Amino acid sequence: MLPQEIIRKKRDGAPLSRDDVKDFISGLTNGTISEGQVAAFAMAVFFKGMSAEEAVGLTLAMRDSGTVLKWDVPGPVVDKHSTGGIGDNISLMLAPMLAACGCFVPMISGRGLGHTGGTLDKLDSIPGYKTQPDLTLFRKVVGDVGCAIIGQTADLAPADKRLYGIRDVTATVESVPLITASILSKKLAAGLQHLVMDVKVGSGAFMESREDAVTLAKSLVSVANGAGLKTTALITDMDEPLAHSAGNALEVLHAAHYLNGTLTNSRIEEILNALGAELLVSSGIAQNLEDAEVKIAKALASGAAAEVFARMVAALGGPVDFMEHPESYLATAPIIRPVYSEAEGLVTSITTRQLGLAVIELGGGRRVATDVIDHAVGLSHVAGKNFRSDFESPLCMVHARDEQSYERAAVLIRNAYLIGQGAQSAPAIVERIMP
Ligand code: URA
Repeated sequence: MLPQEIIRKKRDGAPLSRDDVKDFISGLTNGTISEGQVAAFAMAVFFKGMSAEEAVGLTLAMRDSGTVLKWDVPGPVVDKHSTGGIGDNISLMLAPMLAACGCFVPMISGRGLGHTGGTLDKLDSIPGYKTQPDLTLFRKVVGDVGCAIIGQTADLAPADKRLYGIRDVTATVESVPLITASILSKKLAAGLQHLVMDVKVGSGAFMESREDAVTLAKSLVSVANGAGLKTTALITDMDEPLAHSAGNALEVLHAAHYLNGTLTNSRIEEILNALGAELLVSSGIAQNLEDAEVKIAKALASGAAAEVFARMVAALGGPVDFMEHPESYLATAPIIRPVYSEAEGLVTSITTRQLGLAVIELGGGRRVATDVIDHAVGLSHVAGKNFRSDFESPLCMVHARDEQSYERAAVLIRNAYLIGQGAQSAPAIVERIMP
């Protein structure tokens, strides 16, 4: 069918057949469909939505727009994907933990988006680490080490690259079927057998309300399973930062210390256990959630997960002894200074998004796609809810390149914190979404 007829059909609210969607995505990928037509299609989907059946068709067509990896490894091929948050360095710890439990984790991660940090930007703070290896090296590292965290290559789901770029400049990013197909086409192209989605909710997430987060999680779970990928989702809280740090090198250091057993964080532990357990049970490595949590705890306590991370870093070009003294390899900022609140009392709420914006203000994220990231800057010792803030106990330490950026970040941080009577943290795991 002509592209304009497919657009008209969607515009008028009629369901698209698998062939309609396949034709459109094939024209989008080979360039015979114009940018205007792609934009009109995205806007029609934005307003009219898609049924689960249509979204499965779109996801599969986008998956098939490039290479679809096949794995010949002696264990289940699994992955976790987060919709993005602040201090969300879970991937850096979860991938090696799962590999230490016998899974194979080909993790294709993204760069920072909006106010949220990106796993690839974090890994770029490790000198020599190749976040864009060719597929041969990627396959070798996954096979030899058990996990590799890399960026999207041009071969995987190229339709998403073009569609996402056009959505980004046509106010059509926030469409549940388009987000669903975008995320899942890349996951399916990576050849996964089991996936768990970490859908963040709260003031630091893209989905601020629980209702929106549940809608997205249900769409992801139903479309992924419809496309043949066993998937569950957890909705997790982003009303406060997850790690005690936010910023690229600082979050890598936090993850290295966690894996080495020199740092604890109960919310991170809860989320790692829960996400890991979903995959270990789904893939049959664990018999039930309790068994899975025992296996995950052992992978951490024995040092096996830290060893996998060390081997992954070395295999992808980073220092061979990174985990022995990560501090010596990670850049540090010239200014490391506290920010105090203006009032004394207990932290009652946090507008977590503002903390992400503070990291961008410091140079740790991008304002425009071409910005170069300063990996050294960010926040550490970040206060959570119920923290007693006074003129001796800062809200966080700011790691800044210069005085001006320190001052701009300090204003955002003070505004992010409401000081009053205090409030308990929300549960880290808000809800579980099953097929
Ligand atoms: N992440 C993606 O990969 N795609 C989207 O559309 C949104 C977030």
